[in-house]
Amino acid sequence: MVQRFAMNSQEQLVELGQKYLYPNYRQPPLVLSRGQGCEVWDKNGRRYLDFTAGIAVNSLGHAHPVLVRAIATQAALLCHTSNYFFNEPNVLLAEKLCGATHMARAFFCNSGTEAIEACLKLARRHFFDSGAPERVRVIAFEKSFHGRTLGALAATGQAAYRDGFGPLGPVSHVPYGSLEAVNGVFDQDVAAIIVEPIQGEGGVVPGSPEFLRGLRQSCDDQGVLLIADEIQTGVGRTGRFLALEHAGVRADVVALAKGLGGGFPIGAMVCTAALATALPPGSHGTTFGGNPLASAAALAVLETLETEGLVAHAGQLGRHLAGLLKALKDQRPDVINDVRGMGLLQAIELDSALDARGIVGKLRDRGLLVTVAGGQSLRLSPPLIATEADCAEALQIIDDVLSPKSTGDLS
Ligand SMILES: *Cc1c(COP(=O)(O)O)cnc(C)c1O
Repeated sequence: MVQRFAMNSQEQLVELGQKYLYPNYRQPPLVLSRGQGCEVWDKNGRRYLDFTAGIAVNSLGHAHPVLVRAIATQAALLCHTSNYFFNEPNVLLAEKLCGATHMARAFFCNSGTEAIEACLKLARRHFFDSGAPERVRVIAFEKSFHGRTLGALAATGQAAYRDGFGPLGPVSHVPYGSLEAVNGVFDQDVAAIIVEPIQGEGGVVPGSPEFLRGLRQSCDDQGVLLIADEIQTGVGRTGRFLALEHAGVRADVVALAKGLGGGFPIGAMVCTAALATALPPGSHGTTFGGNPLASAAALAVLETLETEGLVAHAGQLGRHLAGLLKALKDQRPDVINDVRGMGLLQAIELDSALDARGIVGKLRDRGLLVTVAGGQSLRLSPPLIATEADCAEALQIIDDVLSPKSTGDLS
């Protein structure tokens, strides 16, 4: 199986990628070809400890036998049916996901940005049908990230993603954490507030419980919907199935994706019973969404989170990892400005004089994969199956790379 592409060398593949792939990314010159647990290997057989998990996606790590079996078995049975028909894994997944999120209904799609589109369309249509068609505007936050289709991009609060794509739909962006700013932009045309409980791409910035509870209160006072973007924080990563649970807050609509399929593309919008008729038949849909193969993968992920106790584990290991990061920051206040996060979504904010992208490259050279978030933070989002030994190895590499003898050439 691993031998399938054996005749291509890493160098040849990098050359082809650089020649034919649309150059909207900046991949380093290596090709990942195999993974197991928290480890991945490139085409040259070089091993890396994977603390990206494909941007918080591979919740069960790589090649988890339960996920592998679920996908292989379902692929041999039925991959796709379209939504003209029910299919078994999808129905079972809907039941399980509604149970895990304490929601009434689930709509499935193929990515995070599509889950956000479903949330935004649901909000508009809900008010349209309930006699308030003027409610079209959304309140969102500066430094937020909600995806890249035009609706989700309108909600995204970062110029780097938005520039050159306007005009974008009616959204008011206010500072994250400020209830005063939120309440200052309310008017009769607002349909929803959309919030990440922890801003992921914005640099792993947790919203305080008071802030998140205040948003719920404002939505109730104004009669608008609270949309939670849990695409990065959901499915157990923070130590609860939804990150909003830490604040004791329930949203009206939740967007999920990333960790849900454990690497198989799937997104979901889940909502309360009160919104179950907001998108009537024909008003929204997708050809691939909820297909048996993706559903079987997500079902296997949810079942494995339960059988292996991975949500609680993410919380415990996250506290351990946060402790290690705090100790590192105390040792190196000259290069680390802040460490923050929840569960297995943690970040090290580097001093502004340091080149974060360059440091990610140096960590990779030493065998550790992490991502940059918010421009200046190293984001650690290991698989939920990671161990204390994995965290120790990661911290050792980070410590080495940030050590005084190597920081000379880090800026
Ligand atoms: C990744 C992400 C998205 C977009 O998901 P895609 O699958 O890339 O479309 C939206 N919101 C948040 C919070 C995300 O982290």
